[in-house]
Amino acid sequence: GSLDGPALPRYVRVNTLKTSMDDVLTYFKRQGYTYLGKARSIKELIDFGQKSGKSFLQDLHIPNLLVFPPSTDFHKDSLYTAGHLILQDKASCLPALLLDPPVGSCVIDACAAPGNKTSHLAAIVQNKGKIFAFDLDTKRLATMSTLLLRAGVTCQELANQDFLTVSPCDPKYQKVSHILVDPSCSGSGMPDRMRVLTEESGSDQDERLQALSAFQRRAVSHALRFPSVQYVVYSTCSIHQQEDEDVVKDILEQHPDFRYVHILSLWYTAIMLWR
Ligand code: SAM
Repeated sequence: GSLDGPALPRYVRVNTLKTSMDDVLTYFKRQGYTYLGKARSIKELIDFGQKSGKSFLQDLHIPNLLVFPPSTDFHKDSLYTAGHLILQDKASCLPALLLDPPVGSCVIDACAAPGNKTSHLAAIVQNKGKIFAFDLDTKRLATMSTLLLRAGVTCQELANQDFLTVSPCDPKYQKVSHILVDPSCSGSGMPDRMRVLTEESGSDQDERLQALSAFQRRAVSHALRFPSVQYVVYSTCSIHQQEDEDVVKDILEQHPDFRYVHILSLWYTAIMLWR
């Protein structure tokens, strides 16, 4: 059906805590893959969703991200099982990349499990400094521990705790300068969830979105209360305005000491032009 849209390419992040882009390129070439270089346009990336066979590109926007045809499966690949590769969609690489904490900084990942973004943040800070990562869900947190261990992350402190109960006054968090808030959301921006959501009745959906966006507002607001925080990235997998723009707009009205950074405007232009 039209809701399914074209297939998306398979994205693979090179985990620079354990390996380098050069080593991974050499590995795949030895495995018989043809390396096509860095993508030159968004269209080229999207067209890659129609590809099959053994070729790959480097992503146009995200450093250390490789792009393979959709049918490629790396779950049994030795580089994946050794934590050298992280199977992470392009969109999910944006939050840590945009937060971009300096090496050695103190970071909070407020809703962290299963931890792909935490491991990306750890790669960005080069395992130096501290990442305080919270999640309410014990099972997801256990999965996260395994994932971080495999990825060679050592700068984390995990807590099975409601982020809203984490005290900004605790001396432990006095140096936290960067916070990622990636809370539970409707998932309406994920291709496999779109159909489910469009089949939900209007009032059920409204109620659910209201509850989600109330939590999202509280989580972002809480992040802004940490005494040394300079940057907060708020991300969702939702295409609903109630969970995205509306949340940010309300938060900024309540916290005039923060402003919105139009960091993605160039990319939006690129996408709009392409369309
Ligand atoms: N950032 C994760 C990643 O990249 O792997 C994905 C996070 S997922 C979108 C949202 C997470 O928020 C879930 O694991 C959920 O258990 C957690 N969560 C929900 N409410 C929370 C709360 N009050 N405090 C901390 N975590 C919460």
